[in-house]
Amino acid sequence: MNIKDYSKKAISTLTDDYQYGDITPQMMGIILGLSGECGEVQEKFKKILRDKKGKINNKDKQELIKELGDILWYVSVAADLLGSNLEEVAKTNNEKLASRQSRHTLHGSGDNR
Ligand SMILES: [Mg+2]
Repeated sequence: MNIKDYSKKAISTLTDDYQYGDITPQMMGIILGLSGECGEVQEKFKKILRDKKGKINNKDKQELIKELGDILWYVSVAADLLGSNLEEVAKTNNEKLASRQSRHTLHGSGDNR
């Protein structure tokens, strides 16, 4: 298969079936930003693994904390746009993990196990 054939097949699978409903452009921007910040954390970890043999120094730690703060900001704003808040997100997460722990399903796959 050549790359033009691939492109033709790929574009034929593009759907325009999306319904945006309650999802505003602002919410889309926040979710994209959240993904970007997660990527920044992953990139910093990759460089620590690749360039520093996994050794995290104080500067690395501070840089990672800054990126985690960026993630926290996006999570906080996303929760607010959903009519929620960080307290509800944290409480819900704690309850989910406690339930999995009590049912011995912390390991495994699937969001609702
Ligand atoms: Mg950042």
